[in-house]
Amino acid sequence: MTSKALDRAASLIATIPDFPEPGILFRDISPLLADAAAMRAVVDAVIEPFADAFDVVAGVEARGFLLAGAVAVAAGVGMAPIRKAGKLPRPAASVGYALEYGTAAIEMSDDLPAGTRVLLVDDILATGGTLRAGHELLDELGLVLAGTAVIMELEELGGQAVCGPVHAVFRV
Ligand code: AMP
Repeated sequence: MTSKALDRAASLIATIPDFPEPGILFRDISPLLADAAAMRAVVDAVIEPFADAFDVVAGVEARGFLLAGAVAVAAGVGMAPIRKAGKLPRPAASVGYALEYGTAAIEMSDDLPAGTRVLLVDDILATGGTLRAGHELLDELGLVLAGTAVIMELEELGGQAVCGPVHAVFRV
């Protein structure tokens, strides 16, 4: 992968002010997903530090799914969805976490054998609450965290202090 391809990928992430509410600068990865070369460069960059060190990719609903599916195919491994509460027919573990306003919970099925090495991915690292909950979920199910990766980290929000080290392809 060339740095030119990654530069182009970074330029395709749109920044939308005041969405979904006033004061939030929303980072929209949709234009990046729509560009084959940019998508490929980002997927390769996500995998690079963890090559051969994971058995499955887990993605957090909803935009984490988009990245996880592509990473799984490129890396030749399977994909496990981490879903918002109430969506899975047979959740095996559930972890609650704080949002800016209120709380949420994420859940996972018991499809992977204990000890499976999981690469956890999402589109954006903001405050780190979502990925920390993801780590707790993997832990509850006896899965091994092989690493955590996002397309973009919003550095000023200090997410890594909450959820630990994260490989971010881009940082702003
Ligand atoms: P957090 O738990 O605060 O790290 O938030 C991360 C989750 O919220 C990710 O699943 C993102 O998709 C979403 N998110 C948070 N902030 C933003 C933002 N500024 N732009 C786009 N998505 C965001």
